[in-house]
Amino acid sequence: MKINEEKIQQCLQSAAQRSESEIWEILTKARKLEGLEADDVAALCSISDPDLLGELFRTAREVKDEIYGRRLVLFTPLYVSNLCKNDCAYCAFRSSNRDLNRRALTMDEIAAETSALVDEGHKRVLLVAGEAYPRDGFDYILRAIDTVYSVKRGSGEIRRVNVNVAPLEEVDFKRLKQHNIGTYQIFQETYHRETYAKVHLRGAKTDFDWRLEAMDRAIAAGIDDVGIGVLFGLADWRFELLALQQHIHHLEKRFGIGPHTISVPRLEPATGADLASNPPNPVSDLAFRKIVAILRLMVPYTGIIMSTRETADIRRETFALGVSQISAGSRTNPGGYSSADKKAAAQFSLGDVRSLDEVVADVARLGYIPSFCTGCYRLGRTGADFMDLAKPGEIKRHCAPNGLSSFLEYLMDYGQPKTQETGMVSIANALETMDHEPRQRAQAMLEKIRAGRRDVFC
Ligand code: SAM
Ligand code: SF4
Repeated sequence: MKINEEKIQQCLQSAAQRSESEIWEILTKARKLEGLEADDVAALCSISDPDLLGELFRTAREVKDEIYGRRLVLFTPLYVSNLCKNDCAYCAFRSSNRDLNRRALTMDEIAAETSALVDEGHKRVLLVAGEAYPRDGFDYILRAIDTVYSVKRGSGEIRRVNVNVAPLEEVDFKRLKQHNIGTYQIFQETYHRETYAKVHLRGAKTDFDWRLEAMDRAIAAGIDDVGIGVLFGLADWRFELLALQQHIHHLEKRFGIGPHTISVPRLEPATGADLASNPPNPVSDLAFRKIVAILRLMVPYTGIIMSTRETADIRRETFALGVSQISAGSRTNPGGYSSADKKAAAQFSLGDVRSLDEVVADVARLGYIPSFCTGCYRLGRTGADFMDLAKPGEIKRHCAPNGLSSFLEYLMDYGQPKTQETGMVSIANALETMDHEPRQRAQAMLEKIRAGRRDVFC
């Protein structure tokens, strides 16, 4: 696959000439939930008029609500190793950062980290590592995944392990798939080839095309839930959105499925990586909200992931615009959940350091249902099957009841008394707004949870 930079530049140049009425037409089209053309995306990127901006955000809120309702999926990253042979100018794990305390967790340490997460109430983790493995090579990651799945704490366990590790050969993707992962995730960082070359200074990651084609190899190997993303702040965000769209179109054309999720990290300060504190193309909070809103309209059925990197305020605003998954209670240093040395060797600084319970309470107070559901993937509803499910109404029919039952399970097993109080009110409110059939189903599932059953999903 190739990113057609010339086409992107043309789209961006002609966008400035689009009239106000044309923008209204694009937004009307977006409400049909059929996605957008490249010219439309470029036109939305160019909006600066406050009324039109307001309309863009309103449309994104409507689309988010129509497809996803009030559900927000929660997960947490699990950093297993900060060993790395690459030299990415923005990352504290870069090989040239000699001051970093390097460690790859042992399997016992990974089990201890997992126990700490399970005891907090987590059900989904994103396993993260730098691009260098201890002596057993990539098998280290496979053993780490097995270790996470093996930890049982009463009825608590991690039920879905997503993975963010360096691009692999197809044969290793096949092995990854055999270890029962949820989503394989990797970010291109920037789709702008020249910028990419400037910030990736040494190691395998200098190969732009090897990374760009990682998802082709992953899907060819049978991993049909893939997550892509951009590290915003490196190149012009408008360029990145149009390039991301080309990447998605390529995957859809070749495999009949697009990415399961898109992540939208923004550069955060990182020790030993000055560039991270001085982004070449900083993205303002307003531009960031636009990015989320435009993505919501561009690919209405694709999950948008907001990470630990954003402050609680920004996260709140962007939930409404289109975010469907967030991380909570996160640490970005290997051993950060269970060891005493919680501040050592973090990948970047965190904008939100609240505990899972605080985030759950906050999300619920805002009228959202924190979901820990892992039903789809365990029922084999992935890739094209998930996309079929993701038609209007369908997500609400399955995911809304599943979200409620997983939330009640969290509240009963891990919630602080105040969180339980807030959560019970949210569950009651959510039931009231549901259609008859999913409400019946949800009520039956909630009854089972109250009676002591766990891991109830449909
Ligand atoms: N090493 C693998 C790689 O580079 O793809 C996977 C793990 S890497 C730790 C995960 C992601 O962290 C990167 O893809 C990058 O987008 C993000 N990241 C690195 N430095 C960052 C920073 N200073 N601020 C925000 N995100 C950062
Ligand atoms: Fe290594 Fe990934 Fe950090 Fe680059 S972003 S230095 S590859 S851990």
